[in-house]
Amino acid sequence: MTQEKQTEKKVWIDGKLFNIEDAKVSVFDHGLLYGDGVFEGIRSYSGRIFEFQAHIDRLYTSARVIRLEIPMTPESLKDAVKLTCKTNGIVDGYIRLVVTRGVGSLGISPFGCKTASVIIIADSIKLYPQELYEKGMKVISASTIRNHPQAIPPQVKSLNYLNNVLAKIEAIDSNVLEAIMYNSQGYVAEATGDNVFIIKNGTIYTPPIQAGALDGITRAVIMKIARENGIEAIEKNLTRFDLYTADEFFLTGTGAEVIGIIDMDGRKIGSGQPGPITLMLREKFFKYAHNSGE
Ligand code: PMP
Repeated sequence: MTQEKQTEKKVWIDGKLFNIEDAKVSVFDHGLLYGDGVFEGIRSYSGRIFEFQAHIDRLYTSARVIRLEIPMTPESLKDAVKLTCKTNGIVDGYIRLVVTRGVGSLGISPFGCKTASVIIIADSIKLYPQELYEKGMKVISASTIRNHPQAIPPQVKSLNYLNNVLAKIEAIDSNVLEAIMYNSQGYVAEATGDNVFIIKNGTIYTPPIQAGALDGITRAVIMKIARENGIEAIEKNLTRFDLYTADEFFLTGTGAEVIGIIDMDGRKIGSGQPGPITLMLREKFFKYAHNSGE
């Protein structure tokens, strides 16, 4: 991207478009002080916003659970997202939609924060190097367990990502880019920013949301594509053993899209290369992504 293009970029905050250098929030915003807020990561493919309504619905659901009122209607928020994409010339890109609790005092109570702030950033993202999409990626098991559902429900896509950050640090300390997180019962929950899938004897398995995963939008699309192609997709509690002995293993997410896993904790998974069903699903995913959206 040219320098000139960079300076034209605008960020939408509470109804106005700002140049990047002026796109700022208050140090008294509880999003900063307490990680109090919710967000979405959304992709645009071929100029259309992918699974837009599902992301908007999840944002409002997350907000409702943490008793955060988003100060605009879903329709006006969608219009604002579209405007921000258009302003930034986004065709194939990534949108970060953030709702913070807003400006308050230094105490924890959110009720002194008058109005939530809405931020829309439209940019690009490459979560993992391209080479890993072709050759497959290595992961480790994190020792940090996923948030207990009675602490912060993992279905809430909140601004408090420390749980995931700690697992990500474990991955990077082990010279890999991603970690698999388990729940307090020892079952697989998800990766730090992706959902987990394995294939065994031609059937796809993914942990149920209740195992402590975000209800991933890419996850839902992949299950739909699998079923449409005659592959059974089952939600089931998975253990570390199931992942080690899978024929194929892949992760899904808005940022990650679909990426094959070829090694976990030093054990080779399947053939040691992204498997045929993984590659087929990945291809069909992109076809669908570029031909849907709004
Ligand atoms: N789990 C976590 C913790 C995430 O942050 C994400 C999104 N990056 C996902 C799973 C994947 O969800 P989606 O497909 O909706 O992006």
